[in-house]
Amino acid sequence: MIIGSHVSFGPEQLLGSVKEAINYGANTFMFYTGAPQNTLRKAIDENLILEAKKLMKENNIDINKVICHAPYIINLANNGEEAKYNFSIAFLKGEVTRCEQMGIKYLVLHPGSSVGIPKDIALDNIIFALNQVLKEDTKTMILLETMAGKGTEIGTNLEEIKYIIDNINFKDKIGVCLDTCHLNDAGYDMSDFDSFIANFNKIIGHNYLKCIHINDSKNEMNSHKDRHANIGFGTIGFENIYKIINHESLEGIPKILETPYIGEHDLDKARIYPPYKFEIDMLKKGIFNANLMNDIRDYYKK
Ligand code: FE
Ligand code: FE
Ligand code: ZN
Repeated sequence: MIIGSHVSFGPEQLLGSVKEAINYGANTFMFYTGAPQNTLRKAIDENLILEAKKLMKENNIDINKVICHAPYIINLANNGEEAKYNFSIAFLKGEVTRCEQMGIKYLVLHPGSSVGIPKDIALDNIIFALNQVLKEDTKTMILLETMAGKGTEIGTNLEEIKYIIDNINFKDKIGVCLDTCHLNDAGYDMSDFDSFIANFNKIIGHNYLKCIHINDSKNEMNSHKDRHANIGFGTIGFENIYKIINHESLEGIPKILETPYIGEHDLDKARIYPPYKFEIDMLKKGIFNANLMNDIRDYYKK
């Protein structure tokens, strides 16, 4: 099982991410090359990459399964403001270059939001932009994430993702990242993953599946909300998520948790703790821990 979580990319860059992943008992991880909400990026430090790679090797973390996530503010779907659209394309190119510098194979991208323009034009904007970024010598693959359908998001159903892939010039540079919360919120039934994956294989093709985000959802199926819940504390539920991560079709595919941090409600409200060490442990054991939140608070309080 290749499982990890979202981790930060702090002053130690990739090395900091690896250390954090190890603390969670993970054998993979996902990071942003800076804050997910903005595009301020520091130059990649070569020495820190070397140290990070050494530490990964020592801890059996395969760099080929490590995931980078592009910032949310990249929007390739809307070209209403030319400068903004061009900035998104240029920034995505920069992200791909940073991944290549670090030896990261997969970059997850939200396809974008149409915001006021027809969907077919939005889809073609995404395709045009991706074909500007993905060239013959590109070494990092872009993974289109399936979205919940919040607002005017594109990529809310498999047909839209398929349409984008069909029009990408270099098909070995494009893939898909599923997200269980997003799929649930988009209207796909996560309690019947056999049917979902059969449908995915038929529409898109199994060879395009490279990553899956494992999140429970705070909302009902088809709610189009996109609010992640801790594993077993949402509408998908522990049993279904456990079945998904152990599904034979996902063997060897990195599984990344993006569940919310746990707040400290009694004393100091500003303190929040990462749930990943405990959620990964729970998923490895296959037994739901109803006391998860308290266990996490107790562990980090010390
Ligand atoms: Fe995402
Ligand atoms: Fe996600
Ligand atoms: Zn989400």
